[in-house]
Amino acid sequence: MLASDPMTTLLINSIYRATEGEGIHIGTPQVFVRFQGCHIGCVNCDSKETWDFNPEFTMALDEVMEKVETLSQNIIKRVSITGGDPLHPSHVPSLLVLIKELKARDYYVNIEAAGTRVVKEVFDLVDFVSYDFKTPSTEVTTSKDLLLKFIRDYGHKAQIKAVVADKKDFESTYDAFHFIKQNGINPPSWCLTPCFEPGEAFPMQRFQHVVNLNENFGLPFRVIGQQHKWVYGAEARQV
Ligand code: SF4
Repeated sequence: MLASDPMTTLLINSIYRATEGEGIHIGTPQVFVRFQGCHIGCVNCDSKETWDFNPEFTMALDEVMEKVETLSQNIIKRVSITGGDPLHPSHVPSLLVLIKELKARDYYVNIEAAGTRVVKEVFDLVDFVSYDFKTPSTEVTTSKDLLLKFIRDYGHKAQIKAVVADKKDFESTYDAFHFIKQNGINPPSWCLTPCFEPGEAFPMQRFQHVVNLNENFGLPFRVIGQQHKWVYGAEARQV
């Protein structure tokens, strides 16, 4: 197997073990495989250091698996693939090889999807998809039609996550939620993540505001904060 083979050469930012800090799997230890590169451009992105694609820093599939196995210690059989944007088209061939290898070794595989693409060949293979609904404060748009298609096809093994900074974000998310229901589909678990930006202290008032909005709008969502940020600080990495 050649390290230069594009199918088995991965643009990796980092691989580390940590406890899931957000979404419905919060509190679950996992190995994170973080891909480099993202062109989506959320203005409140908390991992801008992953935006660049740097082909000088690649890992062969064998190296990735060795690191995953070392961190897993055959105890943590869960891998979360994140980024950056792991679903960027340039990653997909090597991503598919990685997922197949992880599944062959009995790992439960979650992928973090930015909500801008449905990549059938990837979503068919993984155990779980965490799909973003981008709110206005991100200045990125999630197509409601694409969201509907995603939920129709993969809602049985998915959560939807929306970062909420204010009432406008909440209302936009609520509007999308109703669009799905109006189409006769019961949405999967849908989490609101109160925005917690690097450099801030824990945003207690914003958190309470999001909880109150959810209560006032009939409790359609689960409000789950980013635990790792209040435990380690919003700037901490690999936690
Ligand atoms: S998709 Fe994720 S990595 Fe990319 S800009 Fe948005 S939050 Fe950041």
